[in-house]
Amino acid sequence: MKIETVAVHAGHAVDPATGAVAAPIYLSTTFERDIEGTYSRGFMYTRNDNPNRQALERGVSMLEGGEAAAAFASGTGATMSILQALTPGDHILAHIDAYYGTPRLIREIFLRWGLQADFVDMSDLAAVEKALRPNTKLAWAETPSNPLLKIVDLAAVAEIVHKSGVLFVCDNTWAPVLQRPFELGADLVLYSTTKYFGGHCDVAGGIVVTKTDNELFQRTRGIQYEGGAVPSPFDCWLILRGMRTLPWRMRAHSENALKVAEFLARHRKVARVHYPGLRSHPGHEIAARQMSLFGGMLSLEVKEGYDAAMSVVAKTKIFIRATSLGGVESLIEHRASIEGPGTTSPEGLLRLSIGLENADDLIEDLDHALR
Ligand SMILES: *Cc1c(COP(=O)(O)O)cnc(C)c1O
Repeated sequence: MKIETVAVHAGHAVDPATGAVAAPIYLSTTFERDIEGTYSRGFMYTRNDNPNRQALERGVSMLEGGEAAAAFASGTGATMSILQALTPGDHILAHIDAYYGTPRLIREIFLRWGLQADFVDMSDLAAVEKALRPNTKLAWAETPSNPLLKIVDLAAVAEIVHKSGVLFVCDNTWAPVLQRPFELGADLVLYSTTKYFGGHCDVAGGIVVTKTDNELFQRTRGIQYEGGAVPSPFDCWLILRGMRTLPWRMRAHSENALKVAEFLARHRKVARVHYPGLRSHPGHEIAARQMSLFGGMLSLEVKEGYDAAMSVVAKTKIFIRATSLGGVESLIEHRASIEGPGTTSPEGLLRLSIGLENADDLIEDLDHALR
């Protein structure tokens, strides 16, 4: 079946007890034992497993083409569990441009707990090869990156790290459906489902999908219920509901973003536009090879720096000033001030999460705000 069909049906079945077409939400924290003391219906206690979580995990694994998945209460909770599944002394190689919370988690928590880490620009394949160590267990990529939309060649990195027996994780939060990391060599795929999967800025979540049920995934799965950072049944229900429209939403986000990017690239107040769908983008060729469309995220740099950027965000009427991404509503954000001291985001940079409004209205809103 094609991906739109999988998205609608995966993890769903008509409820045999009632005929309900939309899935019920199982709030029950505990499940009845059989007379013999066993659990023949498969559920015991909601932290271990819950019907809504199981449906979400099955649905996302099917969509991604993986063997299994483990859902968490946030994307960060999912990242945390993969890192906790490693052993002190293990080395991680992470992309320098990963979501800023990922290196922060590694530096502030896991280095103290005995993991070793290096951060390299994974668009530089020689640098990846050079940074591998005998104890490297995991390579962590993310593409397109935040907020400069830099592109990593996933297949090329996978080939290099696999030669050393290193597992390859791809944080695919920015490009679900559009980019298929398992087909490009990833062993694990991570999503913050808070973003495009949920799709409506009303639920937080994260998920780890594995291509094969390997040992690292089994430990991650163990940490899910032993560590307890599980999503609620309602959260799981909302995320699986969001997934049903995901392929169509990604198409529309991408179509709108390309129109906005092309408009901004011609605007006299704009110094630079970072969008992999533009031919001028340094990662365009690789992105065109590994993505079916270029996604809904882009950044622009205004010519006159901080003050001009802040005046744009003060003036938009449709774009909402807020962090995060992936919802139906368009968001605008001054990245440097949210990342704080030490940020590498340019002062004049604004990140846009392009929503599902009409692109003409978004363009008019930006044109007015840039004036
Ligand atoms: C938001 C985000 C995360 C973290 O997810 P949360 O759900 O906020 O914990 C991780 N990676 C990427 C690429 C993100 O955009």
